[in-house]
Amino acid sequence: MKLLFASANPNKIKEISALIPPTIELIGLKDIGLTHEIPEPGLTIKENSYLKAIYVKDYLATNNLNYPVFADDSGLEVFSLKNAPGVHSAYYAGLPKNDEKNNLKLLGDLKNETKRQARFVTVITLLINNQTHYFEGEIKGTIAFEAKGTAGFGYDPLFIPQGYRSTFAELGQEVKNEISHRVMALRGLVEFLKS
Ligand code: IMP
Repeated sequence: MKLLFASANPNKIKEISALIPPTIELIGLKDIGLTHEIPEPGLTIKENSYLKAIYVKDYLATNNLNYPVFADDSGLEVFSLKNAPGVHSAYYAGLPKNDEKNNLKLLGDLKNETKRQARFVTVITLLINNQTHYFEGEIKGTIAFEAKGTAGFGYDPLFIPQGYRSTFAELGQEVKNEISHRVMALRGLVEFLKS
């Protein structure tokens, strides 16, 4: 069975291919000729995940193709900021997207704030056999007082996962791959596909 992942990122596709059963062939957006940006007009991470999957499903239909599709969307929610940056995580400090500026804005927003609890969340939407399935993963933690570490991307230099004293960017990819929101959501998807 072919399964379409609504992503053009070859690293993400490779990473997920290694986890899914060998009977499933994972293909990406480039394989179906969809090369433009997919709009993300949703008000929540879950909505954006769903809208991405539906957008790709509609694109397939107009090209007389019909594969099961899944899409993912992720973000950081800081509880004392009413769950911001949330759905705006990628462009929190404005366009064009810039991780360093986003981190500086977050540190500014939390200046003098002692309540620094947060979570990363990923929602995967799978459209298969005319049904919609959601798989959610989260990791709780706190926002550091300064950026530390060089690994990863996005808010990794600021996020200290629960049970650790270092940021994701200090802990590195190996640790992150064991505990991250994305991996947790992915495990849900993989278990479903295996069953
Ligand atoms: P995406 O939906 O995976 O593209 O994530 C949207 C945005 O959320 C990214 O551009 C980052 O700013 C932030 N984000 C999501 N996942 C992570 C992560 O694992 N580490 C750091 N930032 C992340």
